[in-house]
Amino acid sequence: MNIETLSIKEVQKKLKEKSISVPEIAEALFRQIDRVEPTVRAYISLNRDMVLKKAHALQEELEKDGYPETPSLLGIPIALKDNLCTTDFPTTCAGKILEKYHSPFDATVVEKLRANKALILGKTNMDEFAMGSSTENSSVQKTANPWDVKKVPGGSSGGSAAAVAAGETLGALGSDTGGSIRQPASFCGVVGMKPTYGLVSRYGLVAFASSFDQIGPLAKTVEDAALLLQCIAGYDERDNTSFAGEVPDFDAGLKQPVKGKVVGIPGEYLDKGLNPEVKKVFESVVHKLEQEGVECREVSLPHTAYAVATYYIISTAEASSNLARFDGVHYGYRSENPEDTMELFTRSRSEGFGDEVKRRIMLGTYVLSSGYYDDYYLKALKVRTLIKQDFEKVFETCDAILAPTCPTTAYGIGEMEDPLEMYLGDIFTIPANLAGLPGITLRGGYDDKGLPVGVQLIGDSFKEASLLNFAWNLEQALNLREYPQL
Ligand code: GLN
Repeated sequence: MNIETLSIKEVQKKLKEKSISVPEIAEALFRQIDRVEPTVRAYISLNRDMVLKKAHALQEELEKDGYPETPSLLGIPIALKDNLCTTDFPTTCAGKILEKYHSPFDATVVEKLRANKALILGKTNMDEFAMGSSTENSSVQKTANPWDVKKVPGGSSGGSAAAVAAGETLGALGSDTGGSIRQPASFCGVVGMKPTYGLVSRYGLVAFASSFDQIGPLAKTVEDAALLLQCIAGYDERDNTSFAGEVPDFDAGLKQPVKGKVVGIPGEYLDKGLNPEVKKVFESVVHKLEQEGVECREVSLPHTAYAVATYYIISTAEASSNLARFDGVHYGYRSENPEDTMELFTRSRSEGFGDEVKRRIMLGTYVLSSGYYDDYYLKALKVRTLIKQDFEKVFETCDAILAPTCPTTAYGIGEMEDPLEMYLGDIFTIPANLAGLPGITLRGGYDDKGLPVGVQLIGDSFKEASLLNFAWNLEQALNLREYPQL
């Protein structure tokens, strides 16, 4: 039995039937990790002994108390992006400045996973402080795309996406500030979901840009993503942007037909800049949805062209403020033998941060500085409102939006040299973050080199249930379940 190719739901069925035990699941995944991790390099930290010990304890619990009520993740291996605080693994954000940081507390999502009896396997690689789109900005290692190990896995949650695609975990969590769950999920051919801003607590997520950051699941199937989201969503008094409403049952309507629903396709997303292979796959996906009885109509999001600039102004401004805490005193790396306090700060930060993080801090400090605040930061906030209004208008007549996730498929490691060019690759994922909306990506097909092409569904605020329902139907209609050969 190749457990590494199964979905969470399939493994749960075997657990319930007692045809498999929790330690057997964990051991199977560690065998897969041993086999592929030297090439994929998805994990920053793993702890086999600790995990196997927990697996045995969970098995005992299962035998004593029986299988718990749903939703449960009992014995299901989950990997976590290394910007989610955990007490039992270091939390490094793939940066030198937090290289030796051990959090004294668990993030809320981690607490929730533990309460649901998940087996936390390890922490995954990422772009330093989640800044990037290829995981090449990690100070630890470069992760490879399991579909072609010369290509990037996307980023910044590249380790989580690659680990799921390579069968090194059954599910993972990532964070999405401007596309960091959906873009790597698209490059690695897995399902990735960014929930509505506020649905999942950010407590214990190392902040990059607080008005955008959201934690979400990466999994092999839409059903698994729905289950993971169910287990991590909900109000948390420790996050003051947390949504206080009820979390719906995402499983209840998941498999309802979508016949008669309306999907909007933003014309601006299909303009120039979209790789022809991606466009071809996207068009075939539209056709599939139409065959399911969904009405696909062209809509307009007129301020799309300003999204990337707006995001890189506001997110860097927030990052420059959030990252001020890494000063060599409060947390992490401290430079040796400074002359005075000023030098302690400057040298610790200069030596501790990588180039991309420094670029963002400088940009953010600039757009917030007096004389430029009105021209850049304030203006960007106004454009953000216009972008939000574009979506509100579309959702007056459409149930969801369908769009490509990225303009291209995965590119070569080391190939993208210009940071600006990399920023432009975020064009289709950023708008949902600016508007706080939920988005889910799934595999839509393949390009001519056999690399996965992702498609994205964007929904109105807190309409996750309906979005998952669309995604499930599309996934069934497309029926793509090939695995990368590693
Ligand atoms: N690629 C985007 C950036 O570099 C998004 C990152 C993210 O979502 N964390 O900012």
